[in-house]
Amino acid sequence: MKRVCTYFMSSLMIAIILVSMSACGNSKAGQTEMSAETAVESQTATVEQTTEIEEQVYNSGNENAGNSEPVAEPEPEPARPVIICIDPGHGGSEEGTKETYDGNLVMEKNLNARIASSLKSYLEQYNNVQVILTRSSDVNMGLGERMNYAASNNADYFISVHVNSRSQDEVNSTGSMVLMSCSRYQPSNAKVSSLYDTERLLAKSILSKLNGLGLLIANDFNVENTEGILQRPTTVGETYPDGSPADYYGLIYRGTNAGIPTIIVEHAFLSNESDYRNFLCTDAKLDALARADAEGIAAALGL
Ligand SMILES: [Zn+2]
Repeated sequence: MKRVCTYFMSSLMIAIILVSMSACGNSKAGQTEMSAETAVESQTATVEQTTEIEEQVYNSGNENAGNSEPVAEPEPEPARPVIICIDPGHGGSEEGTKETYDGNLVMEKNLNARIASSLKSYLEQYNNVQVILTRSSDVNMGLGERMNYAASNNADYFISVHVNSRSQDEVNSTGSMVLMSCSRYQPSNAKVSSLYDTERLLAKSILSKLNGLGLLIANDFNVENTEGILQRPTTVGETYPDGSPADYYGLIYRGTNAGIPTIIVEHAFLSNESDYRNFLCTDAKLDALARADAEGIAAALGL
C-alpha cells in the first residue's frame, strides 16, 4: 500500500517536473542544431536524467510519507588534486652522463625518461593525484623552462629524475642520493608551510624506498655523512631575499623562488658497472626504481 502510494506520488512529481522542464524553452533551443550522433547521445542522457529524477522523487516520496530512511547527502565537491611535476633530466643534445656497456652507448637522458614515465604511471594509481611531465620526448629543455612549466601548471611538487656519474674525487661512487635546498628561505607564494621540511621529508622517504631495493646511500664524499641528502650552497655569493646563501643547483634555486618544493633524485651511478647491472640495465629494473620513488613520494605526502 505504501509502495503504491509512493509510485503514485512519483508519477505525480514526474509529471510536475516534466511540465516545468518543457516550460524552460531556452535549454532546448540548441537541440535542433545537433548532429544525429549528438542527438543520440542527448537522448541517452535524457533517459538517464529521467531515471535520476525518478530516484529523487522516490526519495522525496518516502520523506513525505514520514519514512525515517536517511536521504543521501549531495556528493561533496572533489578535492583539488595534488599536482606533481616529474622532470626527466637532460634531453635532446644534452645526453647527461653516458657509458658504454656490452658495446652499447647508454645515455642518462634515456634512463631518466624511462624512470620518469614509469613513475608517472605508478603515481597515477593513487587517488586524487595529477602528474605532469616537463618533457615526454627527447628534446632540449632549459632549467628555467622546466620550472616555468611546473609553475604555470600549478604544480605542488617538483621531482627531477637523474642518474649519477663518478664524483670529482674519483672514488668508485655507488648508490643513491637526493639533492635539496640548503636554505630555509620561504617565499610568500610557497605551496607548503616549509619548503625545506617538505623537501627533506620527500628525500628521506624516497631514499628509504630505494634502499629497500638494495640501492644504498651513496658513498660520495659529499653525502656519506648526511644520510644521502646533498645540500650545496652557491660558490659565487648569491643570496635569497632573506639573505641566506642561494642554492648551487639551478633547478633547486628556481624551485625555491617559485615556492615549489623541488628535489633531484640521483638514482644510481651509471659510471659504476655494478650499479648499472643491478639497477639500470633493463626497463624492468628502471621501473623498480620508479616504483620505489612513487612509494616514497606517496608515503611522504600521505597519498
Ligand atoms: Zn643528470
